[in-house]
This record gives sequence, structure tokens and C-alpha cells, in this order.
Amino acid sequence: MPEGHTIHRIARDHRKFFSGERIAFSSPQGRFVEGAKKIHRRPLQNVDAYGKHLFYEFSSRRYLHIHLGLYGKFKTRRLPLPAPRGAIRLRAVGERHGFDLRGPNQCELIDGKQYRAITDRLGPDPLRDDADRNRAWERISKSRTPIGGLLLNQAVISGIGNVYRAELLFETKIDPRRKGCDITQPEFEQLWKLMLRWLPLGVRTNRIITADAKQLGKTPATLLQSERLLIYKKNNCLDCGAPVIRAALANRTIYYCKRCQH
Ligand SMILES: [Zn+2]
Repeated sequence: MPEGHTIHRIARDHRKFFSGERIAFSSPQGRFVEGAKKIHRRPLQNVDAYGKHLFYEFSSRRYLHIHLGLYGKFKTRRLPLPAPRGAIRLRAVGERHGFDLRGPNQCELIDGKQYRAITDRLGPDPLRDDADRNRAWERISKSRTPIGGLLLNQAVISGIGNVYRAELLFETKIDPRRKGCDITQPEFEQLWKLMLRWLPLGVRTNRIITADAKQLGKTPATLLQSERLLIYKKNNCLDCGAPVIRAALANRTIYYCKRCQH
């Protein structure tokens, strides 16, 4: 599933490509024909991301809400787009660019009230200027759920997925099974600080990078794929060499080092 940085990157690109344009929308697959008609050629005012949710804002507080889920995918390119093939839920054709959206978990039109209902349910998003990290700390510090589960809960913090979760806990030396209420405030501050550093880098480079490129004598762009992460899907711990533990936590596989993380 894409993590928050991917969604923010799409928002950034689509804002740049389509803002102010009157986009031609269609639903080649047929499952969003009525919705596409309602926003067809309406000026697009803004594109914004909140956690893993995307919002395209049109006039009179009408929003196109998209959540990619596990299988959703955007393909954005310069015009002309090829003839539609397969299950394209939504096709957008702007002045110079267009996109095809396939397999989203959600693709719906909503009003301002529904927009607020969705965003009110989400925890602070470290990629947003309006993020209030105290809301996340309050939830975590009162919870008996393992921190590895809390980091994936979008109502606690929004935008973190399975890769960042493992990397954040490895870098801060926290055992993913530790309860939220046993996380200290300095540890939480350290986690948040890392998110503020890693997520914007993810948006910029369009990939998850947690390794210190400088230390490897490289730049983020020249890191090999095998060098970008610290623990996710690794066999041995980078710090102590012990075998990396793989375990299910909150229905996803977590990777951690028993020796280094407590
Ligand atoms: Zn280790």
C-alpha cells in the first residue's frame, strides 16, 4: 500500500499540472460515470493530501476523494493519452497532462461536511503544516496497544505505512511490541522528528529513504535500492549483525532486531 509520501507527491504533481484547468473527466470502466459527469470541465481549485487520502477541490466546496487502498494506482503522463485499456475508473485529460486511475479503494464525490468528517477522523499528518503532534502523543501515551500497531493506525498518525513503521522503530531502538503507554515523551519526540525528516525526503525523491546517504558517501538519488533502507526486509541487523526478526504485528509483517530494540 502506498504510504503518505507517495500520496503527497501525487498531490504535488497534480496541483502543478492541473490547478485552474477545466479537466475532461470520464470513466472508461463505467463505474464512476455519474461522478465524472459532475466534475467534468469544472475548474479545479486545489489538490491536497491528508495522510493516505487525496482531495481534488472544485468550486462550491465539492471534492473528489480518492483513497488508493492496496491496489489503486495512478498513471500520470503528458498528452495524448493512449486509448483506454482495462479497468480505468477515472480518466482525466487536462491541457498538457492527463491521468488514469485504476483500482482505488475509494473514488467518490463529497461535500465540505463529508471532507471534514474524513479529516477529523485522521491523526496528525507530519507532512502537513497544520499537524498537531500532541494529538498523536495523547493517543499513544494512553494506549496499551503495541507501538508497532499504533504507528499504522491512521487515527493516531496519518501517512505512516509498513516500511516507515519498521524503519522508525529501528532508528529509535524501540521494540515494536512495546505498549504505547510505555513510550517516553522524548522517544515520541524522536519518532516525530524522524518523520519530519524522512517523509519530506520521500516526497522529494518519490521513494522511501531512511539510510544516511552522506555516511555512505552518496546523495539520496545515487543510493542503490539495497542501500536505501535500514531494516525493512533485511536479513541481518546493520548495527549488530543479528538475524532480523520477522513477525506479524497489526496484520502486517514487521522487521526488527531483538538485540538492538528494547
Ligand atoms: Zn541489532
